[in-house]
Amino acid sequence: MAAKSLASCIFCKIIKGEIPSFKLVETEFTYSFLDIGPLSKGHALVIPKYHAEKLHEVPDEYLADTLPVAKKIATALGTTDYNLLQNNGRIAHQEVDHVHFHVIPKPSASDDEG
Ligand code: 5GP
Ligand code: ZN
Repeated sequence: MAAKSLASCIFCKIIKGEIPSFKLVETEFTYSFLDIGPLSKGHALVIPKYHAEKLHEVPDEYLADTLPVAKKIATALGTTDYNLLQNNGRIAHQEVDHVHFHVIPKPSASDDEG
C-alpha cells in the first residue's frame, strides 16, 4: 500500500525531514528516531511511514516492518531491560496522533552510578 502522509502531522514532517530528528534506523516502511523528551537514555520512537492515528488503522505490511526495527534498536541499545510501549487515544495517553512505538531502556541501578 502506498505511503500516506498528513501535512499537519509532526511525525509525517519528521519522516519527510521538514522537522529535524536524530535518526536511528530507516527502512522503506519505517522511520525511527530519539524521543525529544526521553524517559531514559536512548528512549526511541519507531513509526510506520504511513499516517494513521491508531494501530488498527495501519496496513499490515507497514507493521510487519516496524516491529523488527524496534527489535533492532532494542538489540543495539545493549540493554536487557526495556519497555515497548504503544498508546492509542487520549485516555490511553497518546499525545501525537501518528502511530508510534516507544522503546524505553530501563537502566540497572549500577548504570545510574557515576
Ligand atoms: P505519546 O504520549 O503520544 O505516546 O508519545 C509521544 C512522544 O513523542 C513523547 O514521548 C514526546 O516526547 C515525543 N515527541 C513529541 N514531539 C516530538 C518531536 O517533535 N520530536 C521528537 N523526537 N519527539 C517528539
Ligand atoms: Zn503522520
